[in-house]
Amino acid sequence: MTSLRVLLTNDDGYLADGLRLLATEIAEWAEVWVVTPDRERSGSGRSITLYQPLRLTRLDPSPAPGHWHLANGTPADCVNLALHYLLPEQPPDLVVSGINHGLNLGDDVNYSGTVQAACEAHHFAVPAVALSQELGGRSMAESAQLCSKLLRAVMERGCPRRLLLSVNVPAGPLLGIRLTRLGRRVYRDVVVAKTDPRGVAYYWLGGKPQWEDDPGTDQEAVLSGYASVTPLRTASTDVESLPELEAMVADAWSPLLR
Ligand code: MN
Repeated sequence: MTSLRVLLTNDDGYLADGLRLLATEIAEWAEVWVVTPDRERSGSGRSITLYQPLRLTRLDPSPAPGHWHLANGTPADCVNLALHYLLPEQPPDLVVSGINHGLNLGDDVNYSGTVQAACEAHHFAVPAVALSQELGGRSMAESAQLCSKLLRAVMERGCPRRLLLSVNVPAGPLLGIRLTRLGRRVYRDVVVAKTDPRGVAYYWLGGKPQWEDDPGTDQEAVLSGYASVTPLRTASTDVESLPELEAMVADAWSPLLR
């Protein structure tokens, strides 16, 4: 038994192949804990549950190696339950979210439960990596092997406390790994309006993603056949706007407060 402890979560729910296969791989080199939503929670971002009780269910026997727990909450709820309730004495050395079934590129990281679960762990000073696999090519088993090797290499080199990475793996043959920044995604036809069988209108958020053509970004790397590794940060004060806003405060707002 190794001394490394890894917490796994995801936003696709506990039945997802990406989670199960990754747990199997990581259990080869670390003690695995899994706290994961009891259902599909993709697109839940970093939301947390405040107005209903959370339930934790131990899965025994578990679907793969490790200590498995389900929660009736979001991925961010799962991270909180794990860090502050299940593992407060010995926090994990790494939190891994995924492997998500589908890419999480560019601006989509803000909606992604997978990526935001990693951000939640980062907020509590635990190194975190989000993993996403493009659908339609590579098997999840192969992706799990690849991602596990990457994570193991990170841990063996000494993982910085503030590590927060989003990794996306393309569906086709892998040409290599690129360090990237987030791309810019533009959706067209974002709201699809239809009528249900009872004649009542309903709406579906979606549309085809379109990307700004931008070298050095995650989507450019993945479209070119490379895995993208994007370091993220969560602090979001727009420092560059402060001088301009100070002028506005002086000119427009200050008189209002006199
Ligand atoms: Mn998902």
